Amino acid sequence: MEFCDECGSMMKTEGDVWVCGSCGYEQVRDSAREEAMVTTQGQEETEIVDMSDAEDQARPTTRVQCPNCDNDRAYYYMQQIRAADESETRFFVCTECDHKWREDDH
Ligand SMILES: [Zn+2]
Ligand SMILES: [Zn+2]
Repeated sequence: MEFCDECGSMMKTEGDVWVCGSCGYEQVRDSAREEAMVTTQGQEETEIVDMSDAEDQARPTTRVQCPNCDNDRAYYYMQQIRAADESETRFFVCTECDHKWREDDH
């Protein structure tokens, strides 16, 4: 993306030059600088990535006894298993040992 030095309008590429759509001002394209900009943007994107810790903390927990380690706190989430007309089942994941089990529906 390039903007006109003369009038500030957005410029379009024509071969090796940028041409202003408003006043016709031409500027030679600096291909080396464009490549540098692309590389920088790619690096910024990879730095943002890892949000998994924050998501873990945002998950809801409830008091429930883990059948595996006797811890009394677990993450929970609702999930529909087979057919769409069946009711959702609640699943628990122990905060201590990551044991996963489904709530008994009785
Ligand atoms: Zn212009
Ligand atoms: Zn456990």
